[in-house]
Amino acid sequence: MCDRSGNCSNDGVCQLVLRNRTTGMDVVEHHCKAHLVLRVWEVERDDDLEVVDATTLQQSSAADEPVGQELHSSNER
Ligand SMILES: [Zn+2]
Repeated sequence: MCDRSGNCSNDGVCQLVLRNRTTGMDVVEHHCKAHLVLRVWEVERDDDLEVVDATTLQQSSAADEPVGQELHSSNER
């Protein structure tokens, strides 16, 4: 899931940790690889934010894949 867009279909999820220089608070965002690059570029231009960490999350196969939904429809005519 990408924070940038609910319909984002890009593969690969990256966890981006940002720090607000003003408040000192860390914010965690999740983006696809394409949007991560875009977001990091935005943050680097923003004096209030700095990138603390950027990690690529490995998507294990079928981790949050809804399994079994299509099996039910086989009973319908
Ligand atoms: Zn995205």
